[in-house]
Amino acid sequence: MKKYNLVILGAGPAGLTAAIYGRRAGMTVLVVERDSHGGQIKLTNSVENWPGTQEINGYDLGSTFYEHAKSVGTEFLSATVVGLDIRDNKRFVITSAEEVEADTVIVATGASFRLLGVPGEAEYTGRGVSYCAVCDGPFYRNQEVAVVGGGNTALQEAEYLTSFASKVHLIHRRGEFRAGKHLVDRILAQEKIVPHLHATVSSIAGDDSGVTRLYLRDVRDGQETELEAPGVFIFVGTTPHSSFLGGLLELAGDGSIITDHHLVTSEPGVFAAGDVRDTDLRQVVTAAADGARAAMGAYHFINRPGDSHHMGHNK
Ligand SMILES: Cc1cc2nc3c(=O)[nH]c(=O)nc-3n(C[C@H](O)[C@H](O)[C@H](O)COP(=O)(O)OP(=O)(O)OC[C@H]3O[C@@H](n4cnc5c(N)ncnc54)[C@H](O)[C@@H]3O)c2cc1C
Repeated sequence: MKKYNLVILGAGPAGLTAAIYGRRAGMTVLVVERDSHGGQIKLTNSVENWPGTQEINGYDLGSTFYEHAKSVGTEFLSATVVGLDIRDNKRFVITSAEEVEADTVIVATGASFRLLGVPGEAEYTGRGVSYCAVCDGPFYRNQEVAVVGGGNTALQEAEYLTSFASKVHLIHRRGEFRAGKHLVDRILAQEKIVPHLHATVSSIAGDDSGVTRLYLRDVRDGQETELEAPGVFIFVGTTPHSSFLGGLLELAGDGSIITDHHLVTSEPGVFAAGDVRDTDLRQVVTAAADGARAAMGAYHFINRPGDSHHMGHNK
């Protein structure tokens, strides 16, 4: 069985940055990826908040991370991680191709946005349908946008969008918002926010330019109304890719991995970085920063075992 100082699960911005830092610190590094290298940023045409580049295509950005990680001697395995095992104080990564032993592991498998599953959603993703106000909000200056969802994230993102949009239509299927009362009161007091309660989105429509309107259905009487807006932001939850861990690491209620501020999980020698982690900002820059810190944590775990951090200390 092959053995590495550091095995990284996932080749997104977090995993690839961890690989660069890990290799530069002199560790042997393997990255396991089930899909193409670069992570979910490859799905977007335009990234405008990666420092140093005013605008870059997401595919190109993900590819540069991969090329950089490869150039410093990172090894790659094309396989799906199906489990992580700890036996006799040793760590083993189980993949669809082979099992490898690791002195340290960084889980950087990312998260997916939960979809609404309505007609037009997939077709217009990146062309009016968005899951990230920080990424796409500035594109809708002085235009009307719709936000779908009723929890804390939806309301916080709706509030953020009021800095750009002329109106923010807040669509929620229940009769009241699920977010905390303080937040709900603050949001509803804002002039730009237009609540649409008891409403679901039945479809999203548009033309060559992207989204132009959406259709809402009143859940009480089934009546349909049309809402004109070039932007629809969907916040109905995220699904962290952590199910393969099978209960090995401590998770938050939404399935994200809990770490301390050194990014150590509940298992010593196992770190988590990026969108899979229990965190309040899911961006390329935060994922990359996590990757760097987790890799240095792994280096210290191997080289200075006496003072390596364990979750519960230095929180
Ligand atoms: C459409 C879109 C637009 C975005 N726009 C922006 C933007 O403008 N600016 C910005 O900063 N952020 C943006 N983001 C968010 C950004 O892409 C993420 O925050 C970032 O990619 C997270 O990096 P990560 O490495 O943690 O996870 P990911 O990028 O999700 O990478 C995780 C990798 O792990 C792999 N993986 C998962 N499970 C397994 C497994 N079991 N075995 C093997 N491999 C596995 C996945 O295939 C994936 O390649 C956008 C996201 C999307 C979807």
